[in-house]
Amino acid sequence: MNISLIAQEYNVPEYLVIFFPMVLLLMTIFLVIVIIKIFEPKYKQYKQDMFHNMFWKWRYKGDSIIDLWCYCPSCKSMLLVDDENCSATSNLGDKITFFICHECGEHEIGRIKGGDRTYALKILKREILAKIRLKTFDIYAYR
Ligand SMILES: [Zn+2]
Repeated sequence: MNISLIAQEYNVPEYLVIFFPMVLLLMTIFLVIVIIKIFEPKYKQYKQDMFHNMFWKWRYKGDSIIDLWCYCPSCKSMLLVDDENCSATSNLGDKITFFICHECGEHEIGRIKGGDRTYALKILKREILAKIRLKTFDIYAYR
């Protein structure tokens, strides 16, 4: 149907005939997003926390934790990782991953014992999942 014909028929300005469906569409999209947020499991809003004195952030893809990385608790920069000692020893007890802040004088912020960076991230994911399972996480902490 012609827009100006509709406008004449209902005696409304033409721009309303054009904008009304757009506004309606935007409101529908907005409502759908709100509904999805309401029905989303609460833990999906749990995306940051402190572990081993480091600030960790992550996202979810389905039920899995992705983009997990750690940040300096004082300056919020991404931490660098040093796990070179892990390839030098086969003794798990001697393997340590160090996390270093480049911005705060290259000093150690935290460490995870038992393996290299892959191992450290696995341990962290396990700790996050444990908090989710036990419902001990706080989505409002560290915001
Ligand atoms: Zn720092």
